[in-house]
Amino acid sequence: MLESATKSSTVAAMPEAVVDTSNLTANLGKACSHEHATVNRWSVDEIVALFELPFSDLMYQAQTVHRANFDPNAVQVSTLLSIKTGGCSEDCGYCPQAARYHTEVENEPLMKLDDVLTAAQEAKDNGASRFCMGAAWRGPKQRDLEPVLKMIAEVKAMGLETCATLGMLKEGQAEQLKDAGLDYYNHNLDTDPEYYGDVISTRTYQDRLDTLDRVRSVDINVCSGGIIGMGESRNQRAGLLAQLANMERPPESVPINLLTQVEGTPLHGTEELDPFEFVRTIAAARITMPNSFVRLSAGRQGMTESTQALCFLAGANSIFYGEKLLTTGNPEAATDKQLFAKLGIHPL
Ligand code: SF4
Repeated sequence: MLESATKSSTVAAMPEAVVDTSNLTANLGKACSHEHATVNRWSVDEIVALFELPFSDLMYQAQTVHRANFDPNAVQVSTLLSIKTGGCSEDCGYCPQAARYHTEVENEPLMKLDDVLTAAQEAKDNGASRFCMGAAWRGPKQRDLEPVLKMIAEVKAMGLETCATLGMLKEGQAEQLKDAGLDYYNHNLDTDPEYYGDVISTRTYQDRLDTLDRVRSVDINVCSGGIIGMGESRNQRAGLLAQLANMERPPESVPINLLTQVEGTPLHGTEELDPFEFVRTIAAARITMPNSFVRLSAGRQGMTESTQALCFLAGANSIFYGEKLLTTGNPEAATDKQLFAKLGIHPL
C-alpha cells in the first residue's frame, strides 16, 4: 500500500496531469516473459495508484488524456444483437445463457439472415454505426460459422461496421471472418488472471489470449474488456486493465461492463459495486489505453443519468444502443438520445 501511495502522489503531481506519457514511452518495447506478446507499459501498482487518486484529480487526468486523443463530445454507438441465444456449454458465473444455470433465458436456434438484416437496418436508422452479432457458443463449429459469414457480409454491405462475438476461434476461423468483411471481433478477458478461476472453469485465460492473437494476426480490430463488480478486489480490477493495456497493441475497443446480476447465476447476490468505483475503473481504462474506445457496456440500465455522465467525463466514448444487450436490458434508444441531448454529446 505504501508503494501505491507514493506512486499515487507522483502521478497526482504530474504537470498538467497528462497521463503517464513518460511511463508509456519509457516502457514501450520492454517485453515480458508471457507467451502472449505484451509490453510493460503499466504495472498493476501504477494502475492501483490511479484508482487511489482523489476523485477530482483522477477525473482531471482522464479528461486530459481523453481530450488529447478524442473529440470529448462524441460517442460511438453500437448495437448488439443476440443471433443465437442460450444453451451455452460454458460456465461463466455471470451469464444467464449458460445451459447449466436455471435462468429465464431459453435456448434458441441461430436467427435467420433476413431477421438479422431487419435488425441491422433498424439499428442503422437509430444512429448506430456498428452492428455487433453475438452467439452463445463455446466457439463456432464450421457449420455454425458459414451462415454467420453471410450475415457479416450482408450487414457490411449495408454500410455498417461489423462486429461479432462467437466465443473461442480455432485455427483458420479468423481468416474466414476477415474475408467476410468483419471489422471487429469481441472476446473479453472478463477479469484479472488471478480472479478468473473463481468465475469460469471451462476455458482458460490463455484460451482467451489465443483467440485474441488469432484475431490480431489477420488484422481484425480487437474488442476486449471485462466485467466489474463480480466480487473482485481493486487490485484485480487494476490487474484486468494491466492485461489489456500491456497487449502489444491494446484493443481498439475496450468494453467495461458492470455486472448485471441475474437470478439463477452463481454471481447473483454479489455485493453491489459503489458507482464511484465503476467510474474510477473507466477513468483508469481511459488513462492506460489513451487511444482505445472505452465502451460503457452492460449494466448501464441500472445506472443513473448522473453516473453515466460521470463515465463520459471519465473518458467513456462508446455505448451500446438498443433495448437489449444480448439477454439483459439496456436503456432504450430514445432515452439515450435524450441523455445525449442533455449532455451535448453527438454520436460518431
Ligand atoms: S459468456 Fe458466452 S461463453 Fe460464457 S456462458 Fe455466456 S454465452 Fe457462453
